[in-house]
Amino acid sequence: MQRSITGFHQDAEDHWVAELDCGHFQHVRHDPPWMMRPWVVTEEGRLSMIGHRLECKKCEAGAPPDR
Ligand SMILES: [Zn+2]
Repeated sequence: MQRSITGFHQDAEDHWVAELDCGHFQHVRHDPPWMMRPWVVTEEGRLSMIGHRLECKKCEAGAPPDR
């Protein structure tokens, strides 16, 4: 299910986590060469992704909200 990004925070290990409008959180790692998300490491890049949609597997699984 496609959900919009509403914000970001960092977890205890400093990994970036996207907050989705469904109440679920999703890690958005920049971990080359496996995960290429250079936008996540800058404030400007993250702000540019607010409102974009990500596939939320937690919704498909019927998981309870993370917040
Ligand atoms: Zn969700």
